[in-house]
Formats: sequence, structure tokens, C-alpha cells
Amino acid sequence: MDRQQLVFDGYEKQIYSTADPDTVILHFKDDITAYDNIRRAKLTGKGAVNCGISALLFAHLGGKHIATHFIEKISADELLCRKVTPIPIELVVHNYIAGSLADKLDLPEGMKPSTVIYDLRYNSSELGDPLINDSQAVALGIASFSELGEMYDTARKINSCLVKLFDAAGLKFVDMKLQFGKTSDGALIVSDEISPDTCRIWDADTDEKLDKDRFRHDLGNIVDAYGSVYQKLKNILG
Ligand code: UDP
Repeated sequence: MDRQQLVFDGYEKQIYSTADPDTVILHFKDDITAYDNIRRAKLTGKGAVNCGISALLFAHLGGKHIATHFIEKISADELLCRKVTPIPIELVVHNYIAGSLADKLDLPEGMKPSTVIYDLRYNSSELGDPLINDSQAVALGIASFSELGEMYDTARKINSCLVKLFDAAGLKFVDMKLQFGKTSDGALIVSDEISPDTCRIWDADTDEKLDKDRFRHDLGNIVDAYGSVYQKLKNILG
């Protein structure tokens, strides 16, 4: 399947149409951004590593009957995916306290809360992607209560699957962001990517950060850290 038109040009990813109206090509760029795109860089090889990690994780989830937009990896930095209409919400899952949640709740980074914490963020750059609750999401017409229920169920399944997988790989699965979209036949499926750009991943023994926090906090060796996550997952998944 070849690229046709560029239909979305994001900071870190591009989406191209294909000859099939129900599929798109997701291209992972080497660009990395943080703090509302104020901090930016180009990191050679980052796109390919995130593409590889996302493909491995989506294939693993597919094997557990969890529907995602992933069809196949078609090159080092491209995935063939089902076309979806994006739902403008991010479902964030926290297994450990980290990042802005640590500041907001005044809890130490690395603390494991007594329950997994789920947050909804409204994708709106004008509003700064604010945290919203379920009834606000329904009031805004983003999703129905039953669709939100479906999204939480899927997030719960994905999280328990990935916590086990990362644990087996010697990694701590700290948090993740999931995006969802609707296919032309109305199915609600997981879209976007699952990678060290969208999850926090720490070394299980040392708590070394192996994710985008290395870029946010200027810790260096970003692609090497992402690469070590990729290698550890490959060791488990083949
Ligand atoms: N995240 C993301 N995109 C966003 C917001 C969050 O990929 O627009 C990821 C982020 O990298 C982290 C997780 O979601 O792995 C939890 O993020 P949170 O909303 O707590 O944001 P942060 O702590 O970065 O403010």
C-alpha cells in the first residue's frame, strides 16, 4: 500500500491516505516536542523506534482480542492502520504517581496509589487540553456515557495486559495516554500510538526513566533509552 495524500501533518506524526478509503498510513517522524510544542528537537531514529514499539504492542493487544487501528507495519517508520474519525479525548491511565499528577496531588513520584487512576483530557489546544470529567465530555457531545464506558473498559484491559508484559520485560509501566476513534462502520477502537512518547516507562530495578521525560527534563540519551525499551519488548515478544 502506497502513500497518497497527506491528510494530517502533526509535530511527531503524519497521516497519509491510501488507495483504500478505509485505511491510512501513519508515519512516525523523528521530531519530538514537549510543553505545548515550545521545546522541539529532531532525534534521528526516534520515529522508527516508536513505530516498532507501537507495532509490537498493537499486535500483542490484537492477540488478546483488543481492537486497535493497527493493521501492519509496512516500513521502518510507517504503520498501515484502519481509518478512524478521532474522538477528541485522551484517556490517561496512571499506575504510579508521576509528572503533573505528583504536583497536583502533592504525592511523591513513583508512589503506587491504592487504585489505578483514570483521567480524561479534552483535546483542545485553545483550552490547553484541560482535564474534564465524564458528564462534561457527554455535555460537550464528545461521547455518550455508554461510549465512555466502552473506552474505560478497553483502557482497563489494555492496562492490565501491558502491566504484565512490561513487568516480564523488566520495566515499570508508570502511565499511558490512549486515543480512540470510530471506524466507518461505527466501531470504537484504539488509535494513535503506544510508545515512550505517550507512556511513562521506567527500568524496574533502577527506576531510570526511559520515556519522553528524558526530553522534558533534559536527561539525554533519548533514542538509546527508547531503544532499550524496544529491545526488552522484542526479547519477550520475539
Ligand atoms: N500524555 C501524552 N500526551 C498528552 C498528555 C499526556 O502522551 O497530551 C502522556 C504523558 O507522556 C504521560 C501520560 O500521558 O506518559 C500521563 O500524562 P499526564 O496527563 O499526567 O501529563 P503530564 O504528567 O505529562 O502533565
